[in-house]
Amino acid sequence: MRDSDRVVVVGGGVAGLVAARALVLAGRDVVLVERSARLGGQLASHSVAGIELDAGAEAYAVRGEELPRLLRALKLADDIVRPVAAPAWLHRADGSAVPLPATSLLGIPGVPLARDVIDAIGLRAALRAQLDNLLPGLVASKAETVGELVRRRMGAAVRDGLVAPVVRGVHSVTPDELEVDRVAPGLRTALLRQGSLAAAVRSRREAAPAGALVASLRGGLHRMVAALAADLERFGVEVRTGAEVISADERGVTISGGERIPGEVVLAAPLEVDAPRTRTTVATIAVDTPELADAPRGTGVLVAPGAPEVTARALTHLTAKWEWLAASTPLHLIRLSYDADVDVTPDLAHRDAQTLLGRSLPAPVDGAVVRWERVGRRADAEHAIDGMRRVGEAESGTGLASVIPYALGVASAIPSGGEEQPD
Ligand SMILES: Cc1cc2nc3c(=O)[nH]c(=O)nc-3n(C[C@H](O)[C@H](O)[C@H](O)COP(=O)(O)OP(=O)(O)OC[C@H]3O[C@@H](n4cnc5c(N)ncnc54)[C@H](O)[C@@H]3O)c2cc1C
Repeated sequence: MRDSDRVVVVGGGVAGLVAARALVLAGRDVVLVERSARLGGQLASHSVAGIELDAGAEAYAVRGEELPRLLRALKLADDIVRPVAAPAWLHRADGSAVPLPATSLLGIPGVPLARDVIDAIGLRAALRAQLDNLLPGLVASKAETVGELVRRRMGAAVRDGLVAPVVRGVHSVTPDELEVDRVAPGLRTALLRQGSLAAAVRSRREAAPAGALVASLRGGLHRMVAALAADLERFGVEVRTGAEVISADERGVTISGGERIPGEVVLAAPLEVDAPRTRTTVATIAVDTPELADAPRGTGVLVAPGAPEVTARALTHLTAKWEWLAASTPLHLIRLSYDADVDVTPDLAHRDAQTLLGRSLPAPVDGAVVRWERVGRRADAEHAIDGMRRVGEAESGTGLASVIPYALGVASAIPSGGEEQPD
């Protein structure tokens, strides 16, 4: 192998795996270097009560063509599943629970005076939200964060009572930390075109494919990792796990132990990246009870900041959400997400599950706690630095629907090698 043909991909999370696959298909010699003993990064599995479950990401946002195309190429398209069409619930700051408004995006209501919006935030706040209809479309159209956009168009009560629980539960940040264009591309353009935020939300929902806004794979989203790894092996990528890159420049990388691997570098790990880190803990419990068969809180519950007697920020009733999972076990599987500073135990998860589901539950038959560190977006988003390309969630924003298209885009801009292989 000539060094000039080689590309060294640093990091074996989904961004690195996808970039390595695209590069080898474009005819480059690819070496993928991963610090840990396993590939996949935040796409991972674990076993709870003998059932293989996603330990990290569990669904992807249905937008764009790249992810479905990749799943087809990986021969996983027949296993794409949509969640059960039941509303998630909102556990409000006063401790009561209501279904999340049906017509909403990130918690932003599409119909501010709908009954379910009034039930969730009260008539006064809903009337304030309706003012959005009277404001010129230009108002807040340049807002960078979801928090600013919603507060200026619909008022603080919508931001705090509806949007904050969704954003906190799904993205582990506050609305003021979440960039509109990263999480809802096209929403601000739709605001300008439609004249109100509510109409923009409705139009974005209509533009989305019919059905749920997210999808996953039967057997768990982590199956993508095995499929990608199998392709890398098939196409001849040299995969080196247990090898930490300690320095990198435009001519290659050095791994711990001192070995130098020369080649063009694609960083798919947040090496020397000045970006915020978010730590989050996920607890999954399995309970043996028929009490939950009626899915009392639909597919799950998002918790308003400040809600009393509950520490979790979100609960997913996994067996109510995914039919394939319910069909595979008589147990109920419940996943709770926590902020970093919480000492999470299966006991705490059990208590929170009872509060959030509004039922008394028997002690779990099994439980697992996984701690994660995620990297936020870099402030200076430029993907070529010192001759190295960067992909991964620090560049593209979090979530597979952002990470995968971005990694594919960067990989396709890298000159191809002599022999291209068929997809
Ligand atoms: C609990 C949880 C739930 C989530 N849920 C969802 C969801 O439902 N839907 C969704 O779309 N997204 C979800 N996400 C986010 C999504 O998983 C991530 O945005 C995505 O997986 C990031 O991929 P990545 O390749 O950029 O980074 P990572 O997966 O973090 O991969 C980076 C890799 O680089 C390796 N690495 C780091 N430093 C080095 C080094 N010096 N040398 C070599 N290797 C190194 C790491 O070990 C890791 O394997 C979730 C994340 C978590 C933690």
